[in-house]
Amino acid sequence: PPSVEFRDVGFAHPGRAQALRGVSFTADPGARTALVGPSGAGKSTSFALLQRFVEPDSGTILLDGVDITTIPRAHLRATIAHVEQDAPVLAGTLRENLLYAEPNATDAEVDRVLRVTMLKSFVDDLERGLDTEVGTRGVALSGGERQRLAIARALLRRPGVLLLDEATAQLDARNETALREAVDRAALGCTVILIAHRLSTVTDAERIVVLEQGRVRASGTHAELVRGD
Ligand code: ADP
Ligand code: ADP
Repeated sequence: PPSVEFRDVGFAHPGRAQALRGVSFTADPGARTALVGPSGAGKSTSFALLQRFVEPDSGTILLDGVDITTIPRAHLRATIAHVEQDAPVLAGTLRENLLYAEPNATDAEVDRVLRVTMLKSFVDDLERGLDTEVGTRGVALSGGERQRLAIARALLRRPGVLLLDEATAQLDARNETALREAVDRAALGCTVILIAHRLSTVTDAERIVVLEQGRVRASGTHAELVRGD
């Protein structure tokens, strides 16, 4: 999978104060990198820049060492999957919820992804041949289940880079850990960049980048950050 590198990236939303001020960090291939920091620190803006929803005022963003402004948008879209907060749930079955995003996926691919991401009760039903109806006419999914479904949808595309926004998900700590384990199993071979609330929930990320007011305040492993290096 590709690496992602921010090199001295500066950006201000139109008419607003600087959202990023000289941000540099590297997300290593196949590793998990966590962006942590308070609301307004620039985490979501970093995701928007990486997907070229907006362009930096200064600095460079590289995907596998290549400046993303030189990469065709279709390739960028195919490579980077963003699991958004409050992803929609279609009124339909679990399988239909995956297939609408990726109509050419085979049943085997859909099942493989659902098995690793969804909760055991759903998987047990799938094993019994029961494809649960969800959404307005079926089972109401919890916040955590909706996020799992969104991750399943994203992984079905076999992206090189998975962007995950955990900060705003309505998850308790136990659910967060379970979801993390599911992603670890499913996202094997993806470069994962995640936005997290607290340092304590990303102890096992290979690299943590602490953002504050648009600046990288610290970066390193959890152990390094806790030691205050
Ligand atoms: P969080 O910090 O939990 O991500 P925010 O309230 O900062 O939530 O942002 C929620 C959404 O609103 C995001 O999509 C963000 O890009 C957008 N947003 C945040 N600040 C502004 C703003 N000043 N003007 C317009 N949109 C904003
Ligand atoms: P975080 O994700 O860390 O909460 P954001 O990237 O959402 O931080 O916000 C960084 C800064 O950019 C904040 O000042 C926020 O208000 C502003 N901002 C974010 N999204 C938008 C937007 N869509 N339009 C205008 N300003 C925004």
